[in-house]
Amino acid sequence: MWWRKVMWVSMSAVLVSTMGRAQQRRKKRMTRQEIVDVVLRETRPLAHPRGERLPLYIWGLRGAPSRDDVETEELLKQLDARGMALLAPWQIGKSQAASLEEALRLARLQAKLGLSVGVDAIRPVYMFYNGDPSTAHVAADGTPFFDLSFQEKKQIGCPFSVKHRYSAIREQVAFFSHAYKQAGLPIDFVFSDWEVDGPMEWNDGWANAKRCARCRERLPSIDDFAAFQKAVREIRSEMQRECYVRPILEHFPNALVGNYGVYPNDGWRYWYDWFEKCDPALPCRMDQREPERPWMQEFPETGYTFAMPVMYTWYRTFDWYDFSDPDYHWFYNMLKVASNAAASTAPRTPIVSFVHHTLTRHPTEVEEPHVKPMSLAAYRELLWHSLLRGHDTFFLWCPNDQIAHEIHPVHEVWAAALEFADFLNDGEPVTCAVPRQDVSVVSGLRLGTRVLVRRTDFAGASDGPVVLAVGNRTISIPKRPSQCQVLDLAKRV
Ligand SMILES: [Zn+2]
Repeated sequence: MWWRKVMWVSMSAVLVSTMGRAQQRRKKRMTRQEIVDVVLRETRPLAHPRGERLPLYIWGLRGAPSRDDVETEELLKQLDARGMALLAPWQIGKSQAASLEEALRLARLQAKLGLSVGVDAIRPVYMFYNGDPSTAHVAADGTPFFDLSFQEKKQIGCPFSVKHRYSAIREQVAFFSHAYKQAGLPIDFVFSDWEVDGPMEWNDGWANAKRCARCRERLPSIDDFAAFQKAVREIRSEMQRECYVRPILEHFPNALVGNYGVYPNDGWRYWYDWFEKCDPALPCRMDQREPERPWMQEFPETGYTFAMPVMYTWYRTFDWYDFSDPDYHWFYNMLKVASNAAASTAPRTPIVSFVHHTLTRHPTEVEEPHVKPMSLAAYRELLWHSLLRGHDTFFLWCPNDQIAHEIHPVHEVWAAALEFADFLNDGEPVTCAVPRQDVSVVSGLRLGTRVLVRRTDFAGASDGPVVLAVGNRTISIPKRPSQCQVLDLAKRV
């Protein structure tokens, strides 16, 4: 998610130009200590035990603010009391050795306290496409060329000329994984955010590959988009499996390893990442004005052991739909994404979903007054419905200056849901339906003859009960805003 850094740096630069020096100092980047202070100040210790459930992950909680063991241990305890994890960032280049030392220190303290040892492995998985001409596409006259349609300065190359980069990336990951093993420390959870690197079929990816002599030779069926997508996604999955997943799982076979945006699916994707353009010339099917894209089943190919769907308030989402309830524009799309992952992921595979409430707007997207932000109430409901459809926990992404706002809904919903841990742990989702009108949305987890349900009403909902078939039984769900209900299934019908 590199643009986010670029975006906030550039936005700050714009703001800075109109401010005095004192204001500029106040606008400086938040330190790790400041982020931690906000998180601890804005949250309360859990009222219900977390038990064996996964902790809550927060983008800003990567790396400890203090190098002092006593202080760090105290911080880990305070975060754990609130159900939150601290991840150790793995760095490469000049900071590699120091970041390993610090990561091992954190792992030791976490192991001592019986906490999950978690890792941010973003940096070691970049860059396969490092700009070297050996990774480029090749024009008919032999001229090397790159695809710059994803990000201005990211030189995306040829899918059939990247394998020689595997060993360098694999070594960057293995460097850390081996060291944990050597030190006798565990690795329990590893996430990455590997996005604008490796071959992709969207934007100008397909068009550029068709201009490449090597691509045409290696993939005679390149004019068929489905064949191209399959070939590209297989290579992309192999890259992640061989260079990121395997170097970790070979030492830590039970580790949870995953990547932003990679999750089992129903063959379709219902959101566009910040670097992806909507292009009606590429294959899609329309849901109102949303161009849904065909997507390969890449998750099993990567070998990831947990799923990471992305439910954000992407700015363009709002204009896709005609619902009269503005909240349902966001909710409908995010629930489609959440339900797709929930219905497609095996029950034993954890779902750790990236979430974000504040409007997720790229600097190139013009702010329009008619785009009404998602209400906090609707966002909280979305989080509840995700949990009641089988998501296990959340990974809050937000720029640091949004943390005081963003931490509230996600922590409060996640913590409140622990009251129903028996349903969350062993309950079976009763529906993944997404209404095509802004009416009532229901979700639930069944445990024997009882169902934990939640009903959320949008503008077109009626006040009467919603009747839901569960197997050959039914439940009648009365209106009860902002609350969960535990209902008994009716006798067989
Ligand atoms: Zn090529």
